[in-house]
Amino acid sequence: MPQIPRDERKTVDADVGIIGAGPAGLMLAHLLRRSGLRVVAIDHRGAEEIHRTHRAGILEHESVRMLAEPDLGSRVLTDGHLHDGIDLRFGRRSHRIDFQELVGESVWLYPQNEVFWDLARAAEHHRMDVRYGVADASAFDVATDHPGIRFTDSDGSAREIRCRYVVGADGSKSATRGLIPREIRRDYFAEYPFAWFGILAETPPSAPELIYAQSPRGFALISQRSDTVQRLYFQCDPATDPADWSQDQIWEELQARIDGPDGMTLRRGPIIESTVLKFRSFVCDPMRYHRLYLAGDAAHTVPPTGAKGLNLALADVRVLAPALIRAVRDGDETLLGEYSETALSRVWKAQNFSYWMTTMLHTAPGETEFATARRLGELRAVTESPHGRAYLAEQYTGWPFHPTVS
Ligand SMILES: Cc1cc2nc3c(=O)[nH]c(=O)nc-3n(C[C@H](O)[C@H](O)[C@H](O)COP(=O)(O)OP(=O)(O)OC[C@H]3O[C@@H](n4cnc5c(N)ncnc54)[C@H](O)[C@@H]3O)c2cc1C
Repeated sequence: MPQIPRDERKTVDADVGIIGAGPAGLMLAHLLRRSGLRVVAIDHRGAEEIHRTHRAGILEHESVRMLAEPDLGSRVLTDGHLHDGIDLRFGRRSHRIDFQELVGESVWLYPQNEVFWDLARAAEHHRMDVRYGVADASAFDVATDHPGIRFTDSDGSAREIRCRYVVGADGSKSATRGLIPREIRRDYFAEYPFAWFGILAETPPSAPELIYAQSPRGFALISQRSDTVQRLYFQCDPATDPADWSQDQIWEELQARIDGPDGMTLRRGPIIESTVLKFRSFVCDPMRYHRLYLAGDAAHTVPPTGAKGLNLALADVRVLAPALIRAVRDGDETLLGEYSETALSRVWKAQNFSYWMTTMLHTAPGETEFATARRLGELRAVTESPHGRAYLAEQYTGWPFHPTVS
């Protein structure tokens, strides 16, 4: 890529420049927009491509409150599905965790691509500066008071955002994370010896709520997307190639993992997408470096078993937005100084929950008979006690936001 002389760059001034227009980046842009801050957000993918990407589907109640604001369209309340519980299925039978009864909360099934679409459409409606299909984005001078972002716009012209703060909301492969020097950054990793074989299938739902099934053949998750399309997963070896599986084999495997004397039967239909999703836990600490702030998957990833990834991305920006607003408006960086610690305290609770659900429900390769029996004991200890069920329900539906966050 030839270097473009600085004076040929078209420069735009902003209070905050955001790399990444996923849920973290776009939600942050809206929260800042409401307080009149000048924001530019850029993404190297096109809006249609992001909208087509199927990922998370479960929203905690606090995430729903953020999305239900009238200026974002509130579609989550009309098109989302309220789920008052989940089914933990083991020993060939179902054990319902009733969230409402246990903790008085619920979650919502509302696919991530619809979350994106609501945020993107609202950005357009409010005439926000969000640019898709950009290339070569890179933040610079983040350790100074005048940082910026260089990129090539979708029309091929070189651009520069000059801003007071840069936010890296550029997902799990974040390049901005690399700007935090190694000597002050600590990366925490955990790898898992299994993955999820995930499918999207054109069929009506098989169950009204998510089923987390533990079986001698391994884990399966029966989840929903809409009245006509469903998302189902089963535990597999990370090296699995989806092309090696016929549609019939996939349905047989899923059915075998939920079989039981109650005759639970999956409704089958054409499989329109198959992927293998590898598991990883990751945390970058700190989530800030001078004028650079990380949010969402750029700073942390969780295995999907606890349905926390998207929710954490929204929770981060709920903490970051008021801190940026105070810094820009009043020149007071006190809240920004607390951002990393505040966000990480929730992140580690979510890491713990995701790890716990994952290890409790999945069969490790070469697992001993003792380990399997112990996991079943753990599942019984959780489901047979109101305290155990309430613990799971509280973690799954999500914690209230930090008390200092308005
Ligand atoms: C296949 C898959 C399945 C998942 N399933 C679940 C699930 O079932 N449940 C759950 O809770 N979570 C799930 N997750 C996690 C969840 O989707 C993420 O936690 C969530 O998307 C985080 O939002 P984000 O905005 O931080 O990151 P992202 O949604 O990844 O957004 C980051 C954005 O930055 C852009 N970007 C990246 N690099 C650059 C660059 N250099 N320049 C410009 N733009 C850039 C990307 O195009 C992207 O749009 C899944 C993730 C994946 C990958």
